[in-house]
Amino acid sequence: MWHPGHSRDKDGHAQTANDAPYPSDLIFGAPPAHVTLVAFPRPTVDDLNPLLAQARAAAVRAFAPYSRFRVGAALRDAHGSVYVGCNVESASYGLTICAERNAIFGAIAAGAARPFAALAVTCLDATGPCTPCGACRQVMAEHLQPDAPVHIDGLGDYRISDLLPLAFGLDVGE
Ligand SMILES: [Zn+2]
Repeated sequence: MWHPGHSRDKDGHAQTANDAPYPSDLIFGAPPAHVTLVAFPRPTVDDLNPLLAQARAAAVRAFAPYSRFRVGAALRDAHGSVYVGCNVESASYGLTICAERNAIFGAIAAGAARPFAALAVTCLDATGPCTPCGACRQVMAEHLQPDAPVHIDGLGDYRISDLLPLAFGLDVGE
């Protein structure tokens, strides 16, 4: 699991891969003036949660030139297959899709077995653990098993019923 002091030098400064230039700088130039990127100690990639490792790998592929906030999600379906998603932004900001919903929608399109058994989510650029947004929690509540673990990088495991109590739903007779 993640140890906050794991990757700091003797002066307490983070020494992580986040110290390296943002990969898309080569394509998109320097970050906008209003965005401040802050490196913080990242969980190590040898985390015991293999689903989280796949979420981190997916986050590297995020298309986030506007927010510089790369998020990855990995979803395990009812048969044990894994599907991943990353956030994909649009110049028309409202069209942006989160990593969690991207993973869930992609899994359904690929024929994954519902309800899904587990989900892991991570952000490479947050200043601390990154929890799913409200929209994603609603979609998760509709497609995850009620007791499915939702592993949030740097925080631990949660149930969707804890993340979104009294979720909206319609009885569609599944
Ligand atoms: Zn979201």
